[in-house]
Amino acid sequence: MYFWCLKNSLTLKLSIMKKYSIILILLCFYGKLIAQQEFQWKPEHTEYWNSQPPVITPGEGTKPPSDAIVLFDGKDLSAWQHPNGNEARWKVENGFFTVVRGTGTIQTKRMFGSCQLHIEWRSPAEVDPKKTGQGRGNSGIFLQSRYELQVLDGYNNPTYTNGGAGSIYKQTPPMVNVCRKPGEWQVFDIIYTAPEFCGKGELISPARITVIHNGVVIHNNTIIKGNTEYIGLPSYKPHGRLPLTLQDHGDPVSYRNIWIRDL
Ligand code: MG
Repeated sequence: MYFWCLKNSLTLKLSIMKKYSIILILLCFYGKLIAQQEFQWKPEHTEYWNSQPPVITPGEGTKPPSDAIVLFDGKDLSAWQHPNGNEARWKVENGFFTVVRGTGTIQTKRMFGSCQLHIEWRSPAEVDPKKTGQGRGNSGIFLQSRYELQVLDGYNNPTYTNGGAGSIYKQTPPMVNVCRKPGEWQVFDIIYTAPEFCGKGELISPARITVIHNGVVIHNNTIIKGNTEYIGLPSYKPHGRLPLTLQDHGDPVSYRNIWIRDL
C-alpha cells in the first residue's frame, strides 16, 4: 500500500513539473517574441555624430597634406642635424639633397613615434661596374633611428634577399622588386607603427610597417623583429619617440619631398 501511494505521489509531482516546464518555455518564447516586436532597429541606432575627424586639405599629387610636418621642401636641411647635434652637411641643390660621403648620418631634430612618411629617393645615375650588391647606391631610412628600410640600387643588382632595396634590412625582403633604373626618382610611402613597451621595458607589441614603393605594396603590416643589426639577430631595446635617420653608406644617394604625419 505504501509503495502504491509513493508511486502515485511521484507520478503526480512529475506531471505537475512537466506542466510548469511547458508553461515556462511558452512564457520565455512569448517574452522573446514580445521583446523582438517592441524593439525595431532603425538606421540611426548605429550612427553617431560626436568626435568628427579633423578637416585637412590634401596635397596636390605627392605634395604634403595640410597637417603634415615638412622635413624637406627642396630648400634647406634646417629640419635635420648630425647625431652629435652639429649641422647636417649633406649637399642641397636643385630641390633635393645628396649624401656627402663621410659626413655621417643625418637625423631629424624632431622626435617621432607611429607615423605616415612620404620620402622620395634616387640612386646615382652613373653606375660603377666595379661596385655591386650592397656597394651600389646604398643608404637607408631608419624609422625611430633603429629600424632600417633599405635604400639601394635594386635594378639588375643582385644582393642577399633580405638586404635589397625595400627590405627591412637583414629581416624581411619586399614582396616584389619594383625598383626603377638608377638615376630615376623613386617613392616610398610608409605607414609605421611604433613598438610598445611596458613600464619595466618588456616588449608589449613589436613595430609594424607597411610600405608602398612606386605605388606598389611591398610590405603589408610587416612585423619588425627588433633593432637592425649588421651582425647577429635583431632584438628590442625599450625606447620612446626618436628621430628619423638617413644613412650615410658612402654612396651619393639623393632625397627630396620628405613629409611626415604623426599617427
Ligand atoms: Mg643601407
